[in-house]
Amino acid sequence: MSSNLEYRAWRVHERNGEYVGGVETCGIEDLPDNDVLVRVSHSSLNYKDALSASGNKGVTRSFPHTPGIDAAGEVVEEGPANNPARGHQVIVTGYDLGMNTPGGFGEYIRVPENWCVPMPAAWDPRHAMIYGTAGLTAGLCVKKLLTMGAKPEQGKVAVTGASGSVGSVAVELLSHLGFDVVAISGKDELAGELKGLGAHEVRGRDALSVEKRPLLRPEYAAAVDTVGGGALTELLKRIQPGGSVACCGLVAGTDLPTTVLPFILRGVNLLGVDSVEISREEKQDIWSRLSGPWACRHTEASARSIGKGDLDEALKAFLEGRSHGKIVLDHAL
Ligand code: NDP
Repeated sequence: MSSNLEYRAWRVHERNGEYVGGVETCGIEDLPDNDVLVRVSHSSLNYKDALSASGNKGVTRSFPHTPGIDAAGEVVEEGPANNPARGHQVIVTGYDLGMNTPGGFGEYIRVPENWCVPMPAAWDPRHAMIYGTAGLTAGLCVKKLLTMGAKPEQGKVAVTGASGSVGSVAVELLSHLGFDVVAISGKDELAGELKGLGAHEVRGRDALSVEKRPLLRPEYAAAVDTVGGGALTELLKRIQPGGSVACCGLVAGTDLPTTVLPFILRGVNLLGVDSVEISREEKQDIWSRLSGPWACRHTEASARSIGKGDLDEALKAFLEGRSHGKIVLDHAL
């Protein structure tokens, strides 16, 4: 029934080593041979989308390609298990979506059944995409810290890359749960916004400036690190005995030059967080928390919507570290 349907997508082409994105018309029949066809109404912007759109071969191997690691919309063709059923709204994040499978920057996706998570009752697709993979990741980081026993009375909790998509949700969520949040950000001009999200204090990136010593005065009971590299190295030196750092990102680099001393002298825990390949039950658990007791009202109120024609500029801002807050792609704009 859908074989001749056409739709619009923001696709990236490789031309003489340059990667150029633009809106074009595509055919449903060109989507991969997966079971569930979803009419996507909204997507969400992530750093990984910017990597895909700029030709990072670790994310996307071949072009032309439709990025978008997040999608929300309605099932129009169901799979063999009828789970999700036609007419139901779903959230699809991670797995291979937007990497080498056409993603949410197109108005349709075709994906395996087990990539689809039912939309929480309190949400519509835009609401879900305000959070997207970034919100999911922030939720997973916070859940890991709580599982390791983090409690507000233990002391300050740092969030690096605090103005970014993951960082800003982590700031609000931790504050909402009663933690004393120190937002570490390179954007002085956003200090007011970060305080509005609930940060008790905002420090510049020099709060994690390079020190030769392998251990420093313990300042933070726990941390969410979204940047990796040297910032994570320095953060580990400043964590209180028994504290934990949930680590999810790499914008400051993939190398982690550290010593074993924070781990063996202070019992610090480094917790890896992956939002991509985890089960849909794990994703569903975080979505149900974020759509209920963990709702981040400031993030919801301050999210910006853009149309496909604005993607080029918005993705460049990610690569240049200029992006901040949550950005939703609305296919109706
Ligand atoms: P954003 O670009 O929105 O945020 C990253 C923030 O990091 C920036 O806003 C900036 O914040 C800070 N930053 C940028 N460049 C540097 C730098 N060179 N050194 C230190 N800080 C820097 O990205 P996202 O929030 O979407 O993603 C953050 C990271 O998390 C990415 O590496 C992404 O790939 C990863 N990620 C991982 C997931 C997983 O499953 N493990 C899922 C989602 C994201 P400020 O100016 O406030 O310092």
